[in-house]
Amino acid sequence: MKQIYGVLGYPVRHSLSPLMHNAAFEALNINAEYRLFERKPEDVENFIRSLIKENISGLNVTVPHKERIIPLLDKVAEEAGLIGAINTIKVSGNALEGFNTDGEGFVRHLGELKFSPCGKNVAMLGAGGAAKAISVYLAKEKIRRLSMFDSDRQKLDNLINYLEDNFTGTDFTAAKSTADLFLDRCDLLINATPVGMRQSDACLVDAKFIHSGMFVYDLIYNPAKTKLLVLAEEKKASFSNGLGMLLYQGARSFEIWTGMDAPVEIMRNALKEGIKRI
Ligand code: NAP
Repeated sequence: MKQIYGVLGYPVRHSLSPLMHNAAFEALNINAEYRLFERKPEDVENFIRSLIKENISGLNVTVPHKERIIPLLDKVAEEAGLIGAINTIKVSGNALEGFNTDGEGFVRHLGELKFSPCGKNVAMLGAGGAAKAISVYLAKEKIRRLSMFDSDRQKLDNLINYLEDNFTGTDFTAAKSTADLFLDRCDLLINATPVGMRQSDACLVDAKFIHSGMFVYDLIYNPAKTKLLVLAEEKKASFSNGLGMLLYQGARSFEIWTGMDAPVEIMRNALKEGIKRI
């Protein structure tokens, strides 16, 4: 019988995940299909409770359901518990197990880019869901310093307090503005806000703070080059958009569901084709 997987979110219409996972299933001759499950928050509980009956084997979960879904699961993997959000569900027999592959996807992509985070000074824009997943993984990788900025001061302080309570060996700082991010000594600058997705968005960081000694990583992949990345290029800094993170979080979900190595190059090509069409 065909296995069903999919992405649960609201909205999910523009997700590239079906292209990436269906290409992987086809390449490995797995009789499975990956679908879009667009569900409003008020319909999510019934949907999750119907997974086993509907023969759904696994899900990716995206905005706005990543956090509120946790109480509906039977088991939550350690890293997902630390992050407080899940993006992957595996149905194992009658049990639903939750994982978070965003942080691991980010760190795996950094590895591909030959950037080793251990001992580095990192600055991050944003303290939302993706920033939390990434910061937990960077702390596990023993970065030296993490300074963060978010327009929501309370959210930022909560995240910094949480990181300080759970990880030693990294110096965590809440910045009052982007000028306070210690960018002169920064090895890796990450944009984990949605600022840059729209043509009209201003760049959050002043040009004078970007330098050739830093790696600039923008989680946004559409547009492929945000204003921040254009600036990085102008200043001769290394840079990347977030398509690789999308790829590797998906590859890790695939491995969790199937127990097989993900066909990363097939998935990467599917994403590259998909992005041309949006
Ligand atoms: P989120 O939970 O909404 O977090 C975004 C954070 O940025 C919020 O705390 C938001 O504050 C803050 N912010 C917004 N505008 C700001 C500004 N001008 N200055 C400072 N902070 C600002 O979203 P998310 O899920 O973490 O996603 C963040 C971005 O990463 C999105 O663009 C998303 O598409 C991308 N992403 C990419 C991948 C990938 O695989 N490449 C994976 C996950 C996410 P407020 O709440 O006050 O607005």
